[in-house]
Amino acid sequence: KTASKTVTDYIRTIPDFPHEGIMFRDVTTLFSDPRGFRLAIDQLLHPYVGTEIDQVVGLEARGFILGGAIAHQLSRGFVPIRKKGKLPGKTIEQSYTLEYGEAVMEVHDDALKPGQKVLLVDDLLATGGTAEAGIKLIERMGAQVIGCAFVIDLPDLGGRKRLESMGMDVHTLCS
Ligand code: IMP
Repeated sequence: KTASKTVTDYIRTIPDFPHEGIMFRDVTTLFSDPRGFRLAIDQLLHPYVGTEIDQVVGLEARGFILGGAIAHQLSRGFVPIRKKGKLPGKTIEQSYTLEYGEAVMEVHDDALKPGQKVLLVDDLLATGGTAEAGIKLIERMGAQVIGCAFVIDLPDLGGRKRLESMGMDVHTLCS
């Protein structure tokens, strides 16, 4: 019965990707299902109905798919935060720690205006390192993160606690 399916039912787990011992939560099966995708977008937005949001920001790459749909639904613009080296204009950079080593995210330095209220979107919250880098970039432009929305929370990795300790509102659909 499709009507009673939940977001979790559309997510697939691939063992040993990208390396042995990792259980990769694959949302492509959620995105490719018309009901699944719509359900995810509706549920991601639900807590923010009636809330003032000026811009939607998505984290590369699956945050672009979710964030684009949410921005369209809200009739707002979409701003991408990308891995270093992909954006053509002048950018600001934020480095963050990965399991092995460091990575750098960046955003166009004129993508947000001071005071704008932003909803940050990605598919999955693990350690929270990627989202924290995104939040820092948004705040460095003087904009304000009013919510961080993810489809999946991996609570054992502590991302929610990390973001909440920064004062963030964290919304996830399943764990
Ligand atoms: P974090 O920075 O440790 O919170 O990791 C979150 C980032 O890694 C997000 O951009 C996710 O898209 C990605 N990620 C980590 N694990 C998974 C997974 O199992 N499925 C999909 N994306 C993942």
